[in-house]
Amino acid sequence: QAKQHGRNGFAFFSAHMREQAEHRMALLKDLRVALTQQQFILYYQPIVAMKDQSIVKAEALIRWRHPEKGIVSPALFIPLAEETQLIHGIGEFIFSTACDTLCALNQLGHHLQLSINVSPVQFTAKHSALNDWHQQLTNKGLTTEQFVIEITEGLMMNALPRTQQRLTTLTKQGFALALDDFGTGYSSLAYLKQMDTDFIKIDKRFVDGIAHTADDLALCEAMIMMAHQLGLKVIAEGIETATQHQLLLQAGCDFGQGFYYAKPMPKDELVNLLNTA
Ligand code: C2E
Ligand code: MG
Ligand code: MG
Ligand code: MG
Repeated sequence: QAKQHGRNGFAFFSAHMREQAEHRMALLKDLRVALTQQQFILYYQPIVAMKDQSIVKAEALIRWRHPEKGIVSPALFIPLAEETQLIHGIGEFIFSTACDTLCALNQLGHHLQLSINVSPVQFTAKHSALNDWHQQLTNKGLTTEQFVIEITEGLMMNALPRTQQRLTTLTKQGFALALDDFGTGYSSLAYLKQMDTDFIKIDKRFVDGIAHTADDLALCEAMIMMAHQLGLKVIAEGIETATQHQLLLQAGCDFGQGFYYAKPMPKDELVNLLNTA
Protein backbone atom coordinates (compact mmCIF):
# COMPACT_ATOMS: atom_id res chain seq x y z
CA GLN A 1 0.00 0.00 0.00
CA ALA A 2 2.62 2.48 1.11
CA LYS A 3 4.80 1.45 -1.79
CA GLN A 4 2.01 2.19 -4.19
CA HIS A 5 1.50 5.66 -2.80
CA GLY A 6 5.15 6.53 -2.73
CA ARG A 7 6.04 5.62 -6.28
CA ASN A 8 2.88 5.28 -8.25
CA GLY A 9 1.91 8.54 -9.86
CA PHE A 10 -1.48 7.13 -10.79
CA ALA A 11 -2.44 6.47 -7.18
CA PHE A 12 -1.59 10.06 -6.34
CA PHE A 13 -3.48 11.40 -9.34
CA SER A 14 -6.65 9.44 -8.62
CA ALA A 15 -6.62 10.61 -5.00
CA HIS A 16 -6.41 14.13 -6.32
CA MET A 17 -9.25 13.49 -8.71
CA ARG A 18 -11.42 12.06 -5.97
CA GLU A 19 -10.74 15.13 -3.88
CA GLN A 20 -11.79 17.30 -6.81
CA ALA A 21 -14.99 15.35 -7.33
CA GLU A 22 -15.83 15.58 -3.64
CA HIS A 23 -15.15 19.29 -3.66
CA ARG A 24 -17.41 19.65 -6.68
CA MET A 25 -20.22 17.69 -5.04
CA ALA A 26 -20.00 19.81 -1.90
CA LEU A 27 -20.05 23.00 -3.92
CA LEU A 28 -23.03 21.76 -5.91
CA LYS A 29 -24.94 20.95 -2.74
CA ASP A 30 -24.38 24.50 -1.53
CA LEU A 31 -25.17 25.96 -4.93
CA ARG A 32 -28.61 24.34 -4.88
CA VAL A 33 -29.66 26.41 -1.87
CA ALA A 34 -27.77 29.59 -2.71
CA LEU A 35 -30.59 31.09 -4.74
CA THR A 36 -33.29 30.57 -2.12
CA GLN A 37 -30.94 31.75 0.64
CA GLN A 38 -30.25 34.94 -1.30
CA GLN A 39 -26.51 34.39 -1.37
CA PHE A 40 -26.08 35.87 -4.86
CA ILE A 41 -25.39 39.52 -5.42
CA LEU A 42 -24.68 41.53 -8.54
CA TYR A 43 -21.63 43.73 -8.78
CA TYR A 44 -21.24 46.38 -11.43
CA GLN A 45 -18.06 47.34 -13.21
CA PRO A 46 -18.05 50.74 -14.93
CA ILE A 47 -17.25 50.93 -18.64
CA VAL A 48 -15.87 54.28 -19.76
CA ALA A 49 -15.70 56.19 -23.02
CA MET A 50 -12.00 56.15 -23.93
CA LYS A 51 -11.88 59.77 -25.02
CA ASP A 52 -12.93 61.36 -21.69
CA GLN A 53 -13.14 58.40 -19.30
CA SER A 54 -16.77 59.20 -18.47
CA ILE A 55 -18.84 56.24 -17.27
CA VAL A 56 -21.32 55.37 -19.99
CA LYS A 57 -21.97 51.68 -19.37
CA ALA A 58 -21.51 49.02 -16.72
CA GLU A 59 -21.23 45.25 -16.74
CA ALA A 60 -23.22 43.21 -14.23
CA LEU A 61 -21.00 40.52 -12.68
CA ILE A 62 -22.41 37.95 -10.29
CA ARG A 63 -20.89 37.15 -6.89
CA TRP A 64 -21.70 34.29 -4.57
CA ARG A 65 -21.40 35.06 -0.89
CA HIS A 66 -20.89 31.57 0.46
CA PRO A 67 -21.74 31.37 4.18
CA GLU A 68 -18.38 29.69 5.03
CA LYS A 69 -16.13 30.12 2.02
CA GLY A 70 -16.77 33.82 1.53
CA ILE A 71 -16.89 35.15 -2.02
CA VAL A 72 -16.75 32.36 -4.61
CA SER A 73 -15.66 33.35 -8.12
CA PRO A 74 -18.17 32.99 -10.96
CA ALA A 75 -15.42 31.24 -12.92
CA LEU A 76 -15.84 28.40 -10.38
CA PHE A 77 -19.59 28.14 -10.00
CA ILE A 78 -21.03 29.27 -13.36
CA PRO A 79 -19.72 26.16 -15.17
CA LEU A 80 -21.24 24.01 -12.42
CA ALA A 81 -24.53 25.88 -12.68
CA GLU A 82 -24.50 25.35 -16.44
CA GLU A 83 -23.98 21.60 -16.15
CA THR A 84 -26.84 21.23 -13.68
CA GLN A 85 -29.39 23.61 -15.22
CA LEU A 86 -29.23 25.78 -12.10
CA ILE A 87 -28.10 28.51 -14.48
CA HIS A 88 -31.72 29.15 -15.47
CA GLY A 89 -32.77 30.31 -12.01
CA ILE A 90 -29.54 32.20 -11.57
CA GLY A 91 -29.98 33.81 -14.98
CA GLU A 92 -33.42 35.05 -14.01
CA PHE A 93 -32.07 36.47 -10.76
CA ILE A 94 -29.41 38.31 -12.77
CA PHE A 95 -31.90 39.72 -15.26
CA SER A 96 -34.49 40.88 -12.75
CA THR A 97 -31.83 42.39 -10.46
CA ALA A 98 -30.26 44.17 -13.44
CA CYS A 99 -33.70 45.58 -14.34
CA ASP A 100 -34.22 46.88 -10.81
CA THR A 101 -30.80 48.50 -10.84
CA LEU A 102 -31.48 50.20 -14.17
CA CYS A 103 -34.79 51.52 -12.81
CA ALA A 104 -33.01 52.93 -9.77
CA LEU A 105 -30.25 54.50 -11.88
CA ASN A 106 -32.73 56.01 -14.34
CA GLN A 107 -34.63 57.55 -11.47
CA LEU A 108 -31.42 59.22 -10.30
CA GLY A 109 -30.80 60.56 -13.79
CA HIS A 110 -28.00 58.14 -14.67
CA HIS A 111 -28.80 56.64 -18.04
CA LEU A 112 -26.26 53.88 -18.43
CA GLN A 113 -26.31 50.93 -20.74
CA LEU A 114 -26.03 47.74 -18.70
CA SER A 115 -24.27 44.62 -19.95
CA ILE A 116 -25.35 41.21 -18.74
CA ASN A 117 -23.57 37.92 -19.41
CA VAL A 118 -25.87 35.28 -20.79
CA SER A 119 -24.80 31.65 -20.75
CA PRO A 120 -25.10 29.53 -23.90
CA VAL A 121 -27.22 27.12 -21.85
CA GLN A 122 -29.84 29.84 -21.44
CA PHE A 123 -30.00 30.07 -25.23
CA THR A 124 -30.17 26.39 -26.05
CA ALA A 125 -32.85 25.34 -23.57
CA LYS A 126 -36.15 24.31 -25.11
CA HIS A 127 -38.10 26.66 -22.89
CA SER A 128 -35.99 29.70 -22.23
CA ALA A 129 -36.96 32.64 -20.07
CA LEU A 130 -35.15 34.82 -22.61
CA ASN A 131 -38.44 34.79 -24.50
CA ASP A 132 -40.04 36.84 -21.72
CA TRP A 133 -37.31 39.41 -21.12
CA HIS A 134 -38.79 42.00 -23.45
CA GLN A 135 -42.14 41.82 -21.69
CA GLN A 136 -40.55 41.81 -18.23
CA LEU A 137 -38.52 44.96 -18.78
CA THR A 138 -41.41 46.72 -20.50
CA ASN A 139 -43.52 46.01 -17.40
CA LYS A 140 -40.85 47.76 -15.36
CA GLY A 141 -40.87 50.81 -17.63
CA LEU A 142 -37.52 50.05 -19.25
CA THR A 143 -36.48 49.83 -22.90
CA THR A 144 -34.34 47.16 -24.53
CA GLU A 145 -31.83 49.76 -25.76
CA GLN A 146 -30.48 50.03 -22.22
CA PHE A 147 -29.35 46.40 -22.25
CA VAL A 148 -26.33 44.77 -23.78
CA ILE A 149 -26.39 40.99 -23.95
CA GLU A 150 -22.88 39.56 -23.72
CA ILE A 151 -22.34 36.21 -25.36
CA THR A 152 -19.16 34.27 -26.05
CA GLU A 153 -17.90 33.06 -29.39
CA GLY A 154 -18.65 29.49 -28.39
CA LEU A 155 -22.37 30.17 -28.67
CA MET A 156 -22.07 30.77 -32.40
CA MET A 157 -20.26 27.53 -33.09
CA ASN A 158 -22.69 24.79 -34.05
CA ALA A 159 -25.51 27.06 -32.94
CA LEU A 160 -28.88 25.33 -33.01
CA PRO A 161 -31.52 27.00 -35.18
CA ARG A 162 -33.27 27.76 -31.90
CA THR A 163 -30.26 29.72 -30.64
CA GLN A 164 -30.00 31.64 -33.91
CA GLN A 165 -33.68 32.42 -33.76
CA ARG A 166 -33.48 33.67 -30.18
CA LEU A 167 -30.54 35.93 -30.97
CA THR A 168 -32.35 37.36 -33.96
CA THR A 169 -35.49 37.97 -31.92
CA LEU A 170 -33.56 39.70 -29.15
CA THR A 171 -31.68 42.00 -31.52
CA LYS A 172 -34.92 42.79 -33.38
CA GLN A 173 -36.46 43.70 -30.02
CA GLY A 174 -33.66 46.23 -29.63
CA PHE A 175 -31.25 44.50 -27.26
CA ALA A 176 -27.63 45.34 -28.09
CA LEU A 177 -25.28 42.41 -28.55
CA ALA A 178 -21.65 42.14 -27.49
CA LEU A 179 -19.21 39.37 -28.32
CA ASP A 180 -17.28 38.73 -25.09
CA ASP A 181 -13.67 37.50 -24.80
CA PHE A 182 -13.20 38.31 -28.48
CA GLY A 183 -10.24 36.67 -30.16
CA THR A 184 -9.91 33.78 -27.72
CA GLY A 185 -12.40 31.38 -29.33
CA TYR A 186 -12.89 29.93 -32.75
CA SER A 187 -15.65 32.02 -34.17
CA SER A 188 -15.80 32.89 -37.80
CA LEU A 189 -15.71 36.60 -38.49
CA ALA A 190 -18.73 36.12 -40.72
CA TYR A 191 -20.86 35.62 -37.60
CA LEU A 192 -20.20 39.18 -36.55
CA LYS A 193 -22.29 40.56 -39.37
CA GLN A 194 -24.75 37.72 -39.50
CA MET A 195 -25.65 38.21 -35.83
CA ASP A 196 -26.19 41.97 -35.84
CA THR A 197 -23.47 42.39 -33.25
CA ASP A 198 -22.98 45.87 -31.79
CA PHE A 199 -19.79 45.45 -29.76
CA ILE A 200 -16.77 43.25 -29.57
CA LYS A 201 -14.98 42.99 -26.25
CA ILE A 202 -11.24 42.53 -26.70
CA ASP A 203 -10.13 39.97 -24.15
CA LYS A 204 -7.84 40.91 -21.29
CA ARG A 205 -5.08 38.57 -22.47
CA PHE A 206 -4.47 40.81 -25.51
CA VAL A 207 -4.61 43.99 -23.43
CA ASP A 208 -2.14 42.54 -20.88
CA GLY A 209 0.70 42.48 -23.37
CA ILE A 210 0.20 45.65 -25.38
CA ALA A 211 2.75 47.75 -23.52
CA HIS A 212 5.58 45.20 -23.99
CA THR A 213 4.64 42.99 -26.91
CA ALA A 214 4.46 44.42 -30.40
CA ASP A 215 2.33 41.48 -31.53
CA ASP A 216 -0.37 42.13 -28.94
CA LEU A 217 -0.55 45.79 -29.88
CA ALA A 218 -0.76 44.86 -33.55
CA LEU A 219 -3.55 42.38 -32.80
CA CYS A 220 -5.53 44.96 -30.82
CA GLU A 221 -5.10 47.52 -33.60
CA ALA A 222 -6.20 45.01 -36.21
CA MET A 223 -9.28 43.97 -34.20
CA ILE A 224 -10.28 47.60 -33.71
CA MET A 225 -9.82 48.43 -37.38
CA MET A 226 -11.75 45.39 -38.51
CA ALA A 227 -14.59 46.05 -36.05
CA HIS A 228 -14.90 49.65 -37.19
CA GLN A 229 -14.97 48.64 -40.83
CA LEU A 230 -17.88 46.34 -40.00
CA GLY A 231 -19.65 49.16 -38.15
CA LEU A 232 -19.06 47.73 -34.66
CA LYS A 233 -17.80 49.46 -31.54
CA VAL A 234 -14.98 48.08 -29.43
CA ILE A 235 -14.75 47.61 -25.67
CA ALA A 236 -11.31 46.65 -24.33
CA GLU A 237 -11.35 44.53 -21.16
CA GLY A 238 -8.87 44.30 -18.31
CA ILE A 239 -7.18 47.68 -18.70
CA GLU A 240 -4.99 48.08 -15.62
CA THR A 241 -2.49 50.82 -16.46
CA ALA A 242 -2.37 54.35 -17.87
CA THR A 243 -0.06 53.09 -20.64
CA GLN A 244 -2.58 50.49 -21.76
CA HIS A 245 -5.29 53.14 -21.73
CA GLN A 246 -3.14 55.48 -23.81
CA LEU A 247 -2.20 52.85 -26.40
CA LEU A 248 -5.80 51.72 -26.84
CA LEU A 249 -7.02 55.30 -27.09
CA GLN A 250 -4.45 55.92 -29.84
CA ALA A 251 -5.56 52.74 -31.58
CA GLY A 252 -9.09 54.15 -31.75
CA CYS A 253 -10.72 51.91 -29.16
CA ASP A 254 -14.17 53.22 -28.20
CA PHE A 255 -14.72 51.98 -24.63
CA GLY A 256 -12.58 50.69 -21.80
CA GLN A 257 -13.19 48.47 -18.79
CA GLY A 258 -10.68 47.50 -16.14
CA PHE A 259 -9.19 48.09 -12.72
CA TYR A 260 -7.45 51.21 -14.06
CA TYR A 261 -10.86 52.92 -14.11
CA ALA A 262 -12.79 50.94 -11.50
CA LYS A 263 -13.25 47.48 -10.06
CA PRO A 264 -16.62 45.70 -9.96
CA MET A 265 -18.64 47.15 -7.04
CA PRO A 266 -22.02 46.88 -5.32
CA LYS A 267 -24.87 49.00 -6.66
CA ASP A 268 -24.67 51.62 -3.90
CA GLU A 269 -20.99 52.24 -4.61
CA LEU A 270 -21.73 52.64 -8.30
CA VAL A 271 -24.42 55.18 -7.45
CA ASN A 272 -21.99 57.11 -5.25
CA LEU A 273 -19.40 57.09 -8.00
CA LEU A 274 -21.91 58.34 -10.57
CA ASN A 275 -23.17 61.03 -8.22
CA THR A 276 -19.69 62.42 -7.63
CA ALA A 277 -18.49 62.08 -11.25
P1 C2E B 1 -16.24 38.33 -18.34
O1 C2E B 1 -17.67 38.49 -18.70
O2 C2E B 1 -15.24 38.43 -19.44
O3 C2E B 1 -15.98 39.44 -17.23
C1 C2E B 1 -14.78 40.14 -17.07
C2 C2E B 1 -14.00 39.62 -15.90
O4 C2E B 1 -12.75 40.32 -15.83
C3 C2E B 1 -14.67 39.84 -14.55
O5 C2E B 1 -14.29 38.74 -13.72
C4 C2E B 1 -14.00 41.12 -14.05
O6 C2E B 1 -14.03 41.26 -12.66
C5 C2E B 1 -12.60 40.90 -14.55
N1 C2E B 1 -11.85 42.15 -14.73
C6 C2E B 1 -12.30 43.32 -15.21
N2 C2E B 1 -11.32 44.23 -15.28
C7 C2E B 1 -10.20 43.61 -14.81
C8 C2E B 1 -8.84 44.04 -14.64
O7 C2E B 1 -8.45 45.18 -14.92
N3 C2E B 1 -7.96 43.12 -14.13
C9 C2E B 1 -8.34 41.86 -13.81
N4 C2E B 1 -7.42 41.02 -13.32
N5 C2E B 1 -9.61 41.43 -13.98
C10 C2E B 1 -10.53 42.29 -14.48
P2 C2E B 1 -15.37 37.95 -12.85
O8 C2E B 1 -16.38 38.90 -12.30
O9 C2E B 1 -14.61 37.10 -11.91
O10 C2E B 1 -16.10 37.05 -13.90
C11 C2E B 1 -15.44 36.04 -14.60
C12 C2E B 1 -16.31 35.47 -15.67
O11 C2E B 1 -17.42 34.78 -15.12
C13 C2E B 1 -16.91 36.53 -16.60
O12 C2E B 1 -15.99 36.91 -17.59
C14 C2E B 1 -18.10 35.78 -17.14
O13 C2E B 1 -17.73 34.92 -18.20
C15 C2E B 1 -18.55 34.96 -15.95
N6 C2E B 1 -19.63 35.68 -15.26
C16 C2E B 1 -19.54 36.68 -14.35
N7 C2E B 1 -20.76 37.11 -13.99
C17 C2E B 1 -21.64 36.38 -14.70
C18 C2E B 1 -23.07 36.37 -14.79
O14 C2E B 1 -23.78 37.17 -14.17
N8 C2E B 1 -23.63 35.44 -15.65
C19 C2E B 1 -22.88 34.58 -16.39
N9 C2E B 1 -23.50 33.70 -17.20
N10 C2E B 1 -21.53 34.59 -16.34
C20 C2E B 1 -20.92 35.47 -15.52
MG1 MG C 1 -18.68 39.72 -19.88
MG1 MG D 1 -28.74 45.88 -32.66
MG1 MG E 1 -14.51 38.91 -21.11
